[in-house]
Amino acid sequence: MIDNQDLTRYRRQMMLPGWGPEGQERLKQARVVIAGVGGLGSPVGLYLAAAGIGHIRLLDGDKVELSNLHRQIVHSMCDIDRWKVESARDRLQALNPEIEVEALGSMITADNVFDLVGDYAIVDAMDNLQARQLLNRVAVKRGLPYFHGAVYGMEGRITTIIPGETPCVSCLYTDVVSGDLPVVGTTPAVIGCLQATEVLKYFLGLGDLLTGRQLIYDGLALRFHEVKVKRDPKCLECASKYSFSGGPV
Ligand SMILES: [Zn+2]
Repeated sequence: MIDNQDLTRYRRQMMLPGWGPEGQERLKQARVVIAGVGGLGSPVGLYLAAAGIGHIRLLDGDKVELSNLHRQIVHSMCDIDRWKVESARDRLQALNPEIEVEALGSMITADNVFDLVGDYAIVDAMDNLQARQLLNRVAVKRGLPYFHGAVYGMEGRITTIIPGETPCVSCLYTDVVSGDLPVVGTTPAVIGCLQATEVLKYFLGLGDLLTGRQLIYDGLALRFHEVKVKRDPKCLECASKYSFSGGPV
């Protein structure tokens, strides 16, 4: 239940029509896994913790390096060589001790991904398609919402996936792009804040989610544009699981 301290902490956001103590209680019950505690995971984690998402699970198998700090703002100089999940957990708990934050320092594999995700809503803050496809498999099999974000240089993209209603990651992407790609710190900040906004709207039932649409951010031109995205009838992950008229096959 929402207590007096919560009423003070969350007062300004609860003033939004459709939010209120009931909405805040829904956030308190919400369970979200943030896969990747880097450039995207930093703002997602900070804003979801600040907003009062009650159960946050952090997944990342890497340690903090100096070359991360220009964009991974949840970590600081004193965190170098610490596990990212532990550094981020300490920062999120310092920001909001009223929530529960779990730190799971495992690399995502086909063998462990179902246990790591459980039945949590998935924020995709990853930097490679292989891990995204594993997370997507869990989302599709278990019908979990999946908040996709990706960045490259000063460009980013975001879409919200609801299995059975929208394309899944495997409908959208087939190319594998990974490695040491350029990225400017403000790009994951923009995209991560939008992902966090979608997570809050999802649990609150507010507004229109970015479903069936992909929003593309071009930081150099400072423009956003949107493209419609469709399910792939031949998708190996979702086509056999969900019919194209809605509902499970
Ligand atoms: Zn699909």
